Amino acid sequence: MNPYLDDDLTALGDHARRFATERIAPGFLERDKIRVLERQLMRDMGEMGFIAPELPEMHGGQGMGCLAAGVIHEEIARADLSISYINLLASLNGQILSQHGKPEVVQPWLQKLTRGEVLFAIALTEPRGGSDAANLRLRMERVGDEYVINGEKTSISAADQADAAVVFGRTGPVESGAHGVTALLVPMELPGVTRNRFDCHGQRAIGRGSLFFENVRVPVSHRLGAENKGFVQVMQGFDFSRALIGLQVLAVARAALEETWGYVAQREAFGKPLSAFQGVSHPLADFDTQVSAARLLCLQTLWLKDKGAPHSAEAAMCKWWAPKLAYDAIHQCLLMFGHGGYDRGVMEQRLRDVLGFQIGDGTAQIMKTIVARTRAGRDAVPA
Ligand SMILES: Cc1cc2nc3c(=O)[nH]c(=O)nc-3n(C[C@H](O)[C@H](O)[C@H](O)COP(=O)(O)OP(=O)(O)OC[C@H]3O[C@@H](n4cnc5c(N)ncnc54)[C@H](O)[C@@H]3O)c2cc1C
Repeated sequence: MNPYLDDDLTALGDHARRFATERIAPGFLERDKIRVLERQLMRDMGEMGFIAPELPEMHGGQGMGCLAAGVIHEEIARADLSISYINLLASLNGQILSQHGKPEVVQPWLQKLTRGEVLFAIALTEPRGGSDAANLRLRMERVGDEYVINGEKTSISAADQADAAVVFGRTGPVESGAHGVTALLVPMELPGVTRNRFDCHGQRAIGRGSLFFENVRVPVSHRLGAENKGFVQVMQGFDFSRALIGLQVLAVARAALEETWGYVAQREAFGKPLSAFQGVSHPLADFDTQVSAARLLCLQTLWLKDKGAPHSAEAAMCKWWAPKLAYDAIHQCLLMFGHGGYDRGVMEQRLRDVLGFQIGDGTAQIMKTIVARTRAGRDAVPA
């Protein structure tokens, strides 16, 4: 019980957990090896209504609110963090497409997105850097009714598995910074698009890679928001994904803690259960406390979003705190399993999986700068 989740949302979470336990959890270890998201599983998730349920019905969603998306998201992540990228990318991109796209262009994509028939990537980071995101250089040149794209995006989740991507590029001069950036919907099968796959530490089923654009021609109708307003208008969606990422990694930490409590209560040393030793139980109690608190912050952030209230600082808090906390908590759990924790298996995979979110979608330093700017004002906290 908590103040953000009523009976309906709790029942939705139970429903998602049953599906995730039966359909997603059994393939968790195998997916790390084969490194592929099963398309049938994605379609089944769509059929269950688990993908971007917060979108209005006219856009293929169920108008359920962001808390509902969060509740489903954490149950999918608990079973396999890589699979929950399907939810994360759909919610982030779905919001961008539905709010900033031309209906005749984005509607068919949104329908397929929520049915689990297509996967969208989001392409912002470039080889020269990701933190200073507004300083991007990928060229988008307007030629008649088209934009011609040249350049590279890198470290993009699902780069080689996505069917389309929301791509941010430069349409204004470099000096215009954030005010010269435009966002486009780019189908990945267009001529001139090539991609690769990195050998990632974790999150291996979703993977990351680079997208290369060589004279890729995209109709102007595929623009999301106004020209040169991609950064200012379209980037707002990241507050949503930051709260979702918090729930995503904390769900993995909660699963690790539950298993570890069970283990230390039954494994014995010196004639007692391990949990009888405060050196074992107190660190777990510390992490359990902090994970519970961080989860409430994530739920509160989604609640604020559902209410239409400001939530940028809270979202940035979720994004820096939860991934670090989840990593530290799972690390502690792994140690409690002794030598067994060091073997390849669920605990070490969880540790590898959550680590990526201390970097992806913005590092802790950048998130803390957002919090500081919200509190002290932008002028007082220059980049
Ligand atoms: C698992 C994963 C998934 C990702 N998925 C995507 C994706 O789908 N789409 C996408 O576009 N990108 C994605 N990324 C890229 C990610 O967003 C960037 O890696 C991130 O923004 C940091 O950029 P960078 O790696 O270039 O580091 P840099 O910007 O080079 O920063 C390096 C270090 O310097 C610190 N630093 C930089 N500037 C400051 C400052 N002003 N103050 C203090 N410290 C600073 C950073 O915090 C970091 O520790 C993903 C990355 C990972 C690891």
